[in-house]
Amino acid sequence: MTFDQQFSKVSERLEEYREEMINLQRELVSRVAVGPDQGGSGEGEKAAFLQKLLTSWGLKVDNYPAPDGRVPGGRPNLVALLPGRRHEKVWVLSHLDVVPPGDETLWDSDPYTLRVDGDRLIGRGTEDDHHGIVASLMAVKALLDLGITPARTVGLVLVADEETGSGYGLDFLLKTQPHLFSPEDLIIVPDAGNPESTLVEVAEKSILWLRLILLGKQSHASRPQLGKNTLRATAHVIVALEALHQEFAAKNPLFSPPESTFEPTQKEANVGNINTIPGRDVFYLDCRVLPEYDPGEIRARVEAIGKATAEKFGVSLSVEVVQELRSAPPTDPDSPVVKALVAAIREVYGREATPQGIGGGTVAAFFRQRGLPAAVWMTVSNMAHQPNEFTLLSNLVGDARVFAHVFLTEA
Ligand SMILES: [Zn+2]
Repeated sequence: MTFDQQFSKVSERLEEYREEMINLQRELVSRVAVGPDQGGSGEGEKAAFLQKLLTSWGLKVDNYPAPDGRVPGGRPNLVALLPGRRHEKVWVLSHLDVVPPGDETLWDSDPYTLRVDGDRLIGRGTEDDHHGIVASLMAVKALLDLGITPARTVGLVLVADEETGSGYGLDFLLKTQPHLFSPEDLIIVPDAGNPESTLVEVAEKSILWLRLILLGKQSHASRPQLGKNTLRATAHVIVALEALHQEFAAKNPLFSPPESTFEPTQKEANVGNINTIPGRDVFYLDCRVLPEYDPGEIRARVEAIGKATAEKFGVSLSVEVVQELRSAPPTDPDSPVVKALVAAIREVYGREATPQGIGGGTVAAFFRQRGLPAAVWMTVSNMAHQPNEFTLLSNLVGDARVFAHVFLTEA
């Protein structure tokens, strides 16, 4: 069979898998995989289900669990291989974990029961990152069902802990099994993209997550002069930190948005009642920093601005680093993995994709830090981490076809 014949057979087959894709999404959504850092019990149930499924297809599946005292059996990291004509590999890495539902009143239905509404598959994790899991698995299944041997050996990697730092996921896997991956391999990470399928992400901003702790003095709210109100100080600190946008104003057109971002996000609960002046407040800052800047510099400025502002209210402030992930060298926009993806997207979606940078948060940085060229791509509805998260079935079929195109290409 020629390449064109193979690809058209695989495409036909993938169109027939719509029901199977819905069913796989349903199974994945029902197996809650929230990491212990976010109050969950980990990815074990979902990983066991997928390991069994892939093994039943005849694939060799290895688990490299990262020990985690909070989770019996550790945090699973699955690697499944479909042998190709060549030893060099094409990898698709997706993550097993999901974020919690957030405010459940914002959901129109149970986050952990798949709901189908036309083309929409709704439920926690359907986009982030079941979309990557389902599309890549179905592409492999189509090859298996049709008895087609891919050009390169296809590797499916399903990691834990992407949402809370990857210390028990890809970072662990790369540290303990470095021989798995080679710079000759093509590495695709379906974990971000745009709705037009045209964003092939090759560079990331540095990620800096900071915890700001304000300590004052608790007192009765009727006698505020006896306390030091940390919530008022917190509000002023948040406003003062807007200065970061002017101090670190560089723009880089590879990225969207083109500048560094500094967002106050989580705020820990303080006092449990209305008539108490809070004496301790903790909030978090999520910074996405252009490669032009050193995250250490940002942290120092946050500390200086924060302290100067808090002092005006008689409140002390300290800053802790929760996560600091320095941006890795970008993947070459002319690398084989980018070219293979761009060609596949052109064939399947009829659009010209372009290599770009994004705000970070994908695991591709761990590959790039080790000189492994990885490209992040999938078609998204921009619903990750949102209430009523959904992905589109039509995009699952399309993205599976893109993966199959890459698997069949002699890149
Ligand atoms: Zn994700």
